[in-house]
Amino acid sequence: MVPVIALVGRPNVGKSTLFNRLTKSRDAIVGDIPGLTRDRQYGEAQWQGRSYILIDTGGITGDEEGIDAKMAEQSLLAIEEADVVLFLVDARDGLCPADQMIAEHLRKRNKISLVVVNKVDHLDENIALAEFSPLGLGDSVAIAAAHGRGINPMLEFTLGQFPKDPVFELEDFSTIEEGQELKRIPGPDEKDGIKIAIIGRPNVGKSTLVNRMLGEERVVVYDQPGTTRDSIYIPFERGEEKYTLIDTAGVRRRGRISEDVEKFSVVKSLQAIKDSNVVIFVMDAREGVVDHDLNLLGFALESGRAIVIALNKWDGMHPSEREYAKKELERRLYFVDFADIHFISALHGTGVGHLYKSVQNAFASAVTRWPTNRLTQILEDAVREHQPPMIAGRRIKLRYAHLGGANPPLIVIHGNQVDSVPKGYMRYLENTYRRVLKLVGTPIRIEFKGGE
Ligand code: GDP
Ligand code: GDP
Repeated sequence: MVPVIALVGRPNVGKSTLFNRLTKSRDAIVGDIPGLTRDRQYGEAQWQGRSYILIDTGGITGDEEGIDAKMAEQSLLAIEEADVVLFLVDARDGLCPADQMIAEHLRKRNKISLVVVNKVDHLDENIALAEFSPLGLGDSVAIAAAHGRGINPMLEFTLGQFPKDPVFELEDFSTIEEGQELKRIPGPDEKDGIKIAIIGRPNVGKSTLVNRMLGEERVVVYDQPGTTRDSIYIPFERGEEKYTLIDTAGVRRRGRISEDVEKFSVVKSLQAIKDSNVVIFVMDAREGVVDHDLNLLGFALESGRAIVIALNKWDGMHPSEREYAKKELERRLYFVDFADIHFISALHGTGVGHLYKSVQNAFASAVTRWPTNRLTQILEDAVREHQPPMIAGRRIKLRYAHLGGANPPLIVIHGNQVDSVPKGYMRYLENTYRRVLKLVGTPIRIEFKGGE
């Protein structure tokens, strides 16, 4: 499971600055669930081959009223969601009563936490660290978030203990031969079959869909082998194929009444996405595409997951509404135009069975081993068709390509001056590979290597 790290502390200690530095901000999933406050911000980041989810919080002041109280509440929720808490304090302000209060809370909750003494630029680190030792939380590090100082030791402490991501790197691309291309490489865990995460905002119909998929008579559901975090992993077989459904909505949990707020958690969704092979992304046809859909979908793409889109609640819609919904989908989801779209009714079961074919195709596209000579041939044809540009009088040379990983497929292209390959040309290559290899449902990564 992807570790979750929360940034907490008083306002203005530098939490957002650190958050932005760690996530590089572009891909941060801003804001929380509709109906809740927007005081928590989620992002994904990597450090030394480990992905983690980072939560930024508004801050805790110690004498919360009104909006502050809400903010503090969100911080406390983030602490609960986190595996490790980075407790930021401000070296310039020195130790404050609110810091003491937060430390007290962390101690009570028995959370693994690290005191992060920020803004040590122009200050003596040891004096700064000593200032905060009365907090009595044990470990501490000194950083300057604004300048990137001390970040590595901080992450070493925070993430060093977590295992590295299971990446589907191909051990040796040179051994892939013609004719081997249809052989699948296993997912992270072959016995699980295709791991499908059912993802979407609250009330789009995830629980209904999970129940429908598992309630089908052709499905053999196995005993739940225990739960991880809050998502439930349900292995089942359908036809010849094995699957594991990652149920973020938690319908299968018996005897537990969960309110909406508890039922939907951003962290749970993000972790399920990371842990899946294929995401079935559920949206509500009657509500259209909203920003929160785009955030979650963006995260799934960033994670390289294969995707199948299910536009749910298609039942009982007027033809003109359907027409409009289709147009909206096309307009706003242009960036996932490689994914299959299904118009379904989880409630009545219409269209649900067809999801499997798309899941299988997307998975196959994501994990097929393409031999080096095939990928190189496609590259050569693409270059012949449309040459890369000249850079300072010299033409960019692209020599050969090989597969560097799967789920998502990583195509590594070797050549000269590859740093200068324009974005548009890269997109051209990506589209060419997608078209020729008939890849559906999966994002593709292209990486250039210089030299030779
Ligand atoms: P937050 O409220 O905890 O999210 O704090 P912000 O990230 O918004 O930072 C509050 C202020 O502290 C901003 O003016 C930042 O530029 C400043 N700041 C953040 N990190 C550092 C640092 O390492 N050194 C210095 N000198 N200022 C910093
Ligand atoms: P979740 O929060 O995403 O798990 O959503 P639920 O599965 O709990 O569904 C939310 C509401 O939408 C419930 O009242 C469902 O009965 C309803 N719903 C789910 N799927 C459909 C559908 O296909 N058609 C219609 N009309 N309602 C649906």
